[in-house]
Amino acid sequence: MSIDDKENEKKSALQLSRRHTLFGMALGATTLAASSLVRAATSDNGAATLPKDGYDVIIIGAGMAGATAARELGARGKKCLVLEARNRLGGRTWTADIFGQQSEVGGQWVHWYQPHVWAEIKRYGLEIDETPGANPTYGTVLINNKLTNIDPADSFARLDAGMKVFCGDLINAFPRPYDPGFDPSFLKHDDISIAQRLKQINLDITTHTILESFFATAVSGSLETAGMLDQIHWYARADNDMGRLLRACTQYYIKSGTSSLIHSMLDESKAEVKTSTPVRKVEHNASGVIVTAENGDVFKASACVVAMPMNCWNDIQWAPALLPGKVAASKERHVGAGFKLKIKVKGNKGAYQSLAGAGHPVNMVYTDHFYDDHTTLFCMGYPTPGFDYNNKALVLKEVEKLLPDAEVLDTFAYDWTNDPYSKGSWCDYKVGMWSKYGADMRKTEGRVVFAGSDVADGWRGFIDGAIETGLRAGRVTAELLSGKA
Ligand SMILES: Cc1cc2nc3c(=O)[nH]c(=O)nc-3n(C[C@H](O)[C@H](O)[C@H](O)COP(=O)(O)OP(=O)(O)OC[C@H]3O[C@@H](n4cnc5c(N)ncnc54)[C@H](O)[C@@H]3O)c2cc1C
Repeated sequence: MSIDDKENEKKSALQLSRRHTLFGMALGATTLAASSLVRAATSDNGAATLPKDGYDVIIIGAGMAGATAARELGARGKKCLVLEARNRLGGRTWTADIFGQQSEVGGQWVHWYQPHVWAEIKRYGLEIDETPGANPTYGTVLINNKLTNIDPADSFARLDAGMKVFCGDLINAFPRPYDPGFDPSFLKHDDISIAQRLKQINLDITTHTILESFFATAVSGSLETAGMLDQIHWYARADNDMGRLLRACTQYYIKSGTSSLIHSMLDESKAEVKTSTPVRKVEHNASGVIVTAENGDVFKASACVVAMPMNCWNDIQWAPALLPGKVAASKERHVGAGFKLKIKVKGNKGAYQSLAGAGHPVNMVYTDHFYDDHTTLFCMGYPTPGFDYNNKALVLKEVEKLLPDAEVLDTFAYDWTNDPYSKGSWCDYKVGMWSKYGADMRKTEGRVVFAGSDVADGWRGFIDGAIETGLRAGRVTAELLSGKA
């Protein structure tokens, strides 16, 4: 495929993703991005404003990782340029207006168990709010196609008990979960998928279904391809306590939106930010880096931070070529290919949660907000064969199974997997990926430093992980520039 073909493919995929609405329903997803900072930093005609002496650092990608790296390097007095492909900031976080309500299309939940994002929340004085569905007052589980009532306390207890059986002897495989390299012996178990591990253990059908529902939602993709280690690592991050893990992943969100965090970081960075500037080529040698955008603009710097999703690394021409582990990982992609649908239903449904196991495209439905006359709910899952979440009839049929008698008033989803600048949702490693490519994926290559939630040590696949790697990239790049690295 030629570069031109590739560009055309990207453009058509972008047009597809820009529809923003599922099923052609009215949405009004107003992006709360494009800050005054960006407008000020981008030249009026969009032309390159390359200073004679270039930049200290070019950062590719204005998600949480890129914004953190820019802020860290700015604080060290470095002159930074951030190049962002989309016409908005935030990457896989995106604060928009859905059903007339400020909502998160991508990453949303944060917690004080996640040290990096929590530090940022305190740094910028942001407030948090709660999702009622994280503490449901009633729930159901779909077992053998029959929806059965279940007390949420029983459901959570079964989930924790089932997870302990799932982990087995590996429950202590991550003595330092934020530093998995401290004892890498877990890597010899990287050849087992979640589906295979579930077959090895013996759980009653209810507990099995609840655990499967959790995994399908957590990895946002096929349990056949998802490695079991990532989920054992998730559990270890929450001190092997499912209650803690669920609170970390589903309960609290930034009241002013994730966009407020991104803007705070980039404002503080003083970096020049160019949106709608996809990067096409990165060339580097011992003396510096040349970055070429798809529009032909060329930028020079002493170093570069690549803060793009791993699934997109191969879309750039690299000279010299990327390490083989990075190329292979980007080609295989992480597991995350799922969705976070949002639906609006008639009436007050209260704080509800409903679960379904693998094989069902919608694995979890739970309350976002409830009001006197309507309720908004999240539906999490991944496309199983024959299911297309852009097909309204199919989606409603699946939602009906977990939320019978619901009168659906409106629906929204965003196609992160067909978005050319994410090519997936959040990162969970496929079987073997961690052991085969993990080291290469994290390696600095010459003057190019890699960041992004997909290569985090702690909360990989989360906002926290993105910030962790942005901090690391800031430090490593500054060391490179000072000749220390
Ligand atoms: C639906 C969904 C729900 C989620 N829920 C949660 C949650 O509740 N809590 C949580 O903590 N995390 C959640 N996540 C995960 C979290 O949002 C991500 O892990 C995190 O935001 C990734 O940040 P990042 O900076 O590493 O990458 P990204 O946010 O993907 O940023 C990378 C940037 O690179 C840009 N880019 C790509 N290609 C190019 C190019 N060629 N040139 C220039 N720029 C380029 C992209 O446009 C993007 O802005 C969710 C993600 C999704 C999709």
